[in-house]
Amino acid sequence: MGRLHRLPVACLLPALLLLTAPLQAAEADCRVAVATRGVAETPVPPAAIAPGASGEDYRQRLRPTGFGWPRLDHWCVWVEPAATSGAGQRWDALWLGAVERALGQWQNELTITRVEDPAAAQVRILRRRPPLQRQASGRTRASHGRAELAVVEADRGAGWILEPQVQVLISPGQRPEATEATALHELGHAFGLWGHSDDPADAMAAVPGAQPVLALSQRDLATLRWLYAQPTRFGLPVLSAPASR
Ligand SMILES: [Zn+2]
Repeated sequence: MGRLHRLPVACLLPALLLLTAPLQAAEADCRVAVATRGVAETPVPPAAIAPGASGEDYRQRLRPTGFGWPRLDHWCVWVEPAATSGAGQRWDALWLGAVERALGQWQNELTITRVEDPAAAQVRILRRRPPLQRQASGRTRASHGRAELAVVEADRGAGWILEPQVQVLISPGQRPEATEATALHELGHAFGLWGHSDDPADAMAAVPGAQPVLALSQRDLATLRWLYAQPTRFGLPVLSAPASR
């Protein structure tokens, strides 16, 4: 997969410096944004996606943004660290372990770099209970996870790039298995699966089944592979005048 922002001078580095290249490359690919600006999304009615011929994925349930599919060839992800002392330390560590296992599932399929600095990430995962959501009926609904997408232009030192920026809230205080299933689902949204499957055995099921789903199903994987084969403007330099707000 193509990597962004590869240093053009890399080939000129002496061999000695190249010994440490893998680490430096990972960090160079996840640079801190020197500036970001929101983009007013042009409301484009989502095109109807035809179901796959084999019916082995749920592509027709996904929705793109007005700029196309919000996916990147290389994601930089920040996870809120656990407390290193105090009463919450043990629970924080359980939360972090569960989130890391879920992230590992996606890491098997996508190029993902963990970063220390949230400003270097497109996906930020916070240990926080999502606020109650008011439904159309007027009732409020509690949930343990939420992912929110913003479309931005980010300057990471090499000009403006169109990026999805996703904030993921994963509630603390659930059992580790439940935390892991929640994280697996919300991270699916973060990495571009903005839609829900109708099969409770899929990680992206709209309604979870009795058993927490801790591994991506064949349908999840097929949908993800379809998504990542679609063209997109995300991750590319912003060419036209920005529609800044
Ligand atoms: Zn969802």
